[in-house]
Amino acid sequence: MSHHDERTFVMVKPDGVQRNLTGEVITRLEERGLKLVAAKFMQIDEDLAQQHYGEHEDKPFFDDLVEFITSGPVMAMVWEGADATRQVRRMMGATDPAEAAPGTIRGDYGLDLSQNVIHGSDHEDEGANEREIELFFDEDELVDYARADEPWVYEDE
Ligand code: GDP
Ligand code: MG
Repeated sequence: MSHHDERTFVMVKPDGVQRNLTGEVITRLEERGLKLVAAKFMQIDEDLAQQHYGEHEDKPFFDDLVEFITSGPVMAMVWEGADATRQVRRMMGATDPAEAAPGTIRGDYGLDLSQNVIHGSDHEDEGANEREIELFFDEDELVDYARADEPWVYEDE
């Protein structure tokens, strides 16, 4: 594979699942040209939540964040494509949906900072994508395949 094999971790959060936005999120990423390589519908336990959000453990909202992310099922996924980590973040929009641009996932579907529909690895945190993928998936759960439209997404395919 070439320059478009970057992988990123994406999750539809409990609010997104409850609001029936799982399909919408998948559709947006799919239609952009990103490739789904793994997915797991699951409920996160407290231990995994604390590890996943470890960087925020000293923040005042940490306990609420762990409680929220463990409060219902999530759709955990790995998506692959050129510049995937940064491109997914652009599609997500700003952390606070009240500030996220219309057209972004958070800007179109959220109004509340803590219930902001989607998580995506931070491209400004070096290696966060690989760390988060490893935390949620075993290597053999990542599927290696060609998408039929790849030559129409990437000029060099
Ligand atoms: P993200 O990378 O855009 O998701 O944002 P952060 O890494 O800064 O924060 C992680 C998650 O914690 C966010 O997506 C929000 O769900 C939540 N969060 C961030 N800041 C706050 C806050 O000030 N209050 C509350 N209640 N939740 C927050
Ligand atoms: Mg973050």
